[in-house]
Amino acid sequence: AHPLVRTRYPVLSQALLSGASPQLRNVATTGGNLLQRTRCPYFQDVSHPCNKREPGTGCPARDGVHRDLAVLGHSAHCVATHPSDMAVALAALDARVRLLGPDGARELPLTDFHRLPGDRPEQDTVLRPGELVTEVVLPPPAGTSAYRKARDRASYAFALASVAAVLAVADGRVRHAALAFGGLAHRPWRARAAEEVLRGAPADEETFARAVDAELAAARPLRDNGFKVPLARGLAVRVLTDLAAAS
Ligand code: SF4
Repeated sequence: AHPLVRTRYPVLSQALLSGASPQLRNVATTGGNLLQRTRCPYFQDVSHPCNKREPGTGCPARDGVHRDLAVLGHSAHCVATHPSDMAVALAALDARVRLLGPDGARELPLTDFHRLPGDRPEQDTVLRPGELVTEVVLPPPAGTSAYRKARDRASYAFALASVAAVLAVADGRVRHAALAFGGLAHRPWRARAAEEVLRGAPADEETFARAVDAELAAARPLRDNGFKVPLARGLAVRVLTDLAAAS
């Protein structure tokens, strides 16, 4: 709610306000938000096997209930999604995470903090034993920004898909673009292929659609979550178009 955050990083305040409930937000912490674990139903239900909870036991979600789970970057071992909204905004803002542990301090881009599942889905982040998140650092804003989230109900629900975008336009062309998706992968998904298409291109809906399609070409939906691809496409094109119109 800080006026500086609202004016300089609207994508961040919008993402935070779209998450959880007021009661939860008011007791939450930045580090806790980054480190929250997946809401995959099998991970939460200890009567089921789950590679993330008990490595080597299997992933029933792959052939089971996976409507809310990943379409990008998943593996044979885990198809979970990361639940944070805030982290998606931070990914688009090029935030950096500062850590402190037994071997001293280190700093890394937020986009390198969360892992894809690979064959170690039990490990959500690169945090080492004994390390703490001490700070999240934001660079100066590189453009106007916005967050949009689609979910099953109007509040207090995790994203089916979400998008965080930062856009700067000069002379009708994209000067800076950063795009990240939530609800689609095991970590906030920074859309580098889309950004490549956007850089220097005309800031119009045709470009935005082409860029988002370039990113989502990598999607590998499961049996019941293919709807997330056009949903994410629509969100991203709309957010970029709105930002361009406001530039
Ligand atoms: S998707 Fe991941 S968290 Fe869910 S059951 Fe499979 S291994 Fe467990």
